[in-house]
Amino acid sequence: MNIEILASCECGKAQFKTTDKPILQLCCHCADCRQATGDDASTIVFFKLDKVQIGGDLQPMTYMSDLGNQTQRLTCEHCKQVMFDKSAGFPHMLGVIAQRIAKPFVAAPQMHVWTKSKLPNVEIPKQMKQFEKGIS
Ligand SMILES: [Zn+2]
Ligand SMILES: [Zn+2]
Repeated sequence: MNIEILASCECGKAQFKTTDKPILQLCCHCADCRQATGDDASTIVFFKLDKVQIGGDLQPMTYMSDLGNQTQRLTCEHCKQVMFDKSAGFPHMLGVIAQRIAKPFVAAPQMHVWTKSKLPNVEIPKQMKQFEKGIS
């Protein structure tokens, strides 16, 4: 099968491409992710780092997760949109902000993380795996 998954930022300068399937999809309720997407919660789709191609002028922003792992957000230098998430807890994975991924890809999160930071109006489906904090 030859499925290509493409993503790009608003201005189109930061690019992502893979022909590999995502290995993990999660919906994050932390304040950082909410800020990154402007949404009530953000879906991040993770791919194997060695199976993806990324390009463009990306600016890394590094911070510590509450679990003590260094996390890096890669932002497009031109339009300032957050594109990628790289955590020291997942050294072989690259997270892509689901909003940036082009159709026909539809994100399907398998778990919700940082539910302790969840906004009160957001409801999580009951059968969904939930973690109060992050997993990385
Ligand atoms: Zn988050
Ligand atoms: Zn851009």
